[in-house]
This record gives sequence, structure tokens and C-alpha cells, in this order.
Amino acid sequence: MSSSETSYLQLSDIVPWVTTTGSFPPVVDADSEPILDRPLTEEEVRKAIALVVVEQGRAGVDILVCGQVRGTITAIQAYDIPGYDGIRIVDRLGIPEKSRPLQDLEYARSVALENGITKPFKAHITGPSTMAHLSAIEVPEYSSDSDLRRLVLDLAHSLAPQAERFANAGFEIIQIDEPVLRPGVNLALAFEALDIINAYIPVPLIHVCRNIEPIFMELLSLNRKMKNPFQVMCVEGKHLMRVPGLRARDLEDAGVKIGFGCLDVSKESVEPLFQVERDIRIALQRFGIDNIWAVTPECGLRRRSLSATRAKILRLVEARNAVAQRRQLAGT
Ligand SMILES: [Zn+2]
Repeated sequence: MSSSETSYLQLSDIVPWVTTTGSFPPVVDADSEPILDRPLTEEEVRKAIALVVVEQGRAGVDILVCGQVRGTITAIQAYDIPGYDGIRIVDRLGIPEKSRPLQDLEYARSVALENGITKPFKAHITGPSTMAHLSAIEVPEYSSDSDLRRLVLDLAHSLAPQAERFANAGFEIIQIDEPVLRPGVNLALAFEALDIINAYIPVPLIHVCRNIEPIFMELLSLNRKMKNPFQVMCVEGKHLMRVPGLRARDLEDAGVKIGFGCLDVSKESVEPLFQVERDIRIALQRFGIDNIWAVTPECGLRRRSLSATRAKILRLVEARNAVAQRRQLAGT
């Protein structure tokens, strides 16, 4: 593992780091609306990625993303997997021979270097359970409820080579997005499949969306049982604060730090500085600075305008810096 990326799992005066959940608006110039109703052309993809990188650099985000601008997280991941047609599964799944997500990350890294931005990138993979639940199943092999296990594990084997490609290309912080994990979803199966992918990830992170309150303790318990456990769980902070009985010790026992989501992404407006700063401070008090790895928006920013996205990531950096400054002044 390279020293620059290893250091991002360690602590410094300015922790928590600032990063994002992954998706940015697919916008091809600063004044246009996000293109959500069709796939972007290759030229549009490059323009959108360049904007995403420059915006993060300008705002002072610590760990960058390429913005997942090609489409929904399901579509982006399905592109290269044999057996998929769009997000329809039309044949038994195979091993992808190429990776457009890697191509996009490499392009993002080249844009960053051209602009003098030397921050590490976080790569993204859409998790097997999410792919299984959001794809249209059109083959008998996966059609019945009892075939879910085969589907989820086949997806894990199709996704693992993507993780290996990212890591080999130097993208060692890899977040698996599993927005469908909630009560009623087979969480043990989900983690069994995730362990297959994590075997190839130097620094594995997971993002789970919305209300994790009823499942969070189970997620920690499943993490403890993995051969290659997640090192960070990125979740919505307001729900984390409500998990009954959750203590810093529980996170430490599970080997997990938190990516603390503290900005609403469902609206264009941005919370006032005092509110975001207060929420970060309360999280640090409750769980300890050692256990909050990063602050993030609560979820992806794909549906926001570029101007709202810019305001939100600037606010996050500003709030984190205010917290850090106050801690330095207090000598803590
Ligand atoms: Zn999310």
C-alpha cells in the first residue's frame, strides 16, 4: 500500500477528512442542468469528470471521487458485466474483460494532476445485493426467490475483478455502495458476497443509505465475522446517533470507523454552518475523534445542480475546518 493512501486511514490534526458519498451531477458545463435522462457520450463523460475533479479541488475536499457521471450506480456497474443488457440480466453473469469505472477514475486522476491536485481518490463499486435488487431478472437461472443466493454470489464474482483492477491501478480506498441493505434484506448473504470482493481491496469501505438504525448493530456483528472486514462504514449521521446503545467501544470492537453523513442531499439549499459544525462536534464527542474517519454528505449528489453541489461541499469543508480550529484552540 502506498504511504500517501495509508496515511488517509490514520489520524491528524485536521481529522475527520472530508470526502463525498460518490456521485456528482452529470453536468457538462458549469451552467447546464444535470443530464439524467440518457447516457452521456464519451466526450460528455470526460467534460463532466473534469468539472467534478476541479470542484472538489477548489473546495478542499481531502479524498476525491470521479463522480459516477455515466449513469445510475446500477447502470454504471452493469455496463461491463457479461450477461447484462442495460440493467436487465439476460444471461448467466460472467467476468468483465474491461472496466469503464476504472477508465473514468484514471481520467479523473489525470485531470487532478493537470490541475496540481495531489489528493488520493476513492473508487466505487455497487454492491452485489444492490445490483441483485435493482436489476431486471430475465433468465430462469436467477428467477425464483431461492435463486437469490446464486445471483448475489455470481454478482460478487463478477465485481471482484473490478476491485482487483482498481487496486492494481493504485486506487486502494474502495467503497462498496449497498443502498438496499435494510430490514428484510438477507444481510448475512450480503456480507458473505461482500467478503469475496473485499479480498481484493486494500482499504474497504461500505456505504449504506437512509435509516440504518434497525440494522446497524447487525452490520457491526457481520463485519466482525468477515475475513476481510470493512474499515469504514459511511452512513447518515442523524440515524447513527439514534442507534440504541451504540458506543465507541462497539465500533472499535468491530474494527470500524465512521464516514459521518451530515448534509441533506435531497434539497438544493444547504444547512447553515453552525448546524453542520454542531453535528460534527456532537459526533466527535459521542464516538471519539479516533472513530470518525470522515465527514460526508448523507448520500450521492447526482440529482443536485452543480451550484448546489458546490455550496454543499464547501460547507462541509468549512464546518470541518471550524471544528478543527476550535479543537486546536481548546488544546484537544
Ligand atoms: Zn446513499
